[in-house]
Amino acid sequence: MPTIITHAAVPIAAALALGKGRVNSKLLALGVVASMLPDLDVLAFRLNIAYSHDLGHRGASHSLFIALALGLLASTIAPSLGFSRMKALAFVFFSAASHGLLDMLTNGGLGVAIWWPWTNERYFFPCQVIEASPLSLRRVFGPAGFAVVKSELLWVWLPALGTALLARQWLNARRPEPIAH
Ligand SMILES: [Zn+2]
Repeated sequence: MPTIITHAAVPIAAALALGKGRVNSKLLALGVVASMLPDLDVLAFRLNIAYSHDLGHRGASHSLFIALALGLLASTIAPSLGFSRMKALAFVFFSAASHGLLDMLTNGGLGVAIWWPWTNERYFFPCQVIEASPLSLRRVFGPAGFAVVKSELLWVWLPALGTALLARQWLNARRPEPIAH
């Protein structure tokens, strides 16, 4: 996995691109939580569930199916938080799905069961540019952790924020000019 904080880069960048009018702070908070939630499955190691098991790390929790389920869950509470069900579904699904997809770019561990429940086969993208984060917190703060942070800045934060700024400019340019009276 990239470090858990880096998973938040995707919803943050998307919110920056779309602007506050489209993604308010509550929806952004839901997206950030959804982007990090799949890594709760590291608890599986403590429960002696094998890495390669459906419920193991990078298993069901990292699938598009569970991302969709989280999106649907968010859509049920959307009206009470002041945004539409469709917007909540789309943003939370996108945020949660990005987690598994980012993990598929890492160079360590087993791949991601992105197509669970249809198959528990684990997948990577052909190019695995992100250093896999050590699973032990002690090692995250060592030299291995530094290499991970460097590669995440280069391959996640920089492209995400760069794309967000470009998309923001493009969306602003498409906004119709106010009519002068
Ligand atoms: Zn993960």
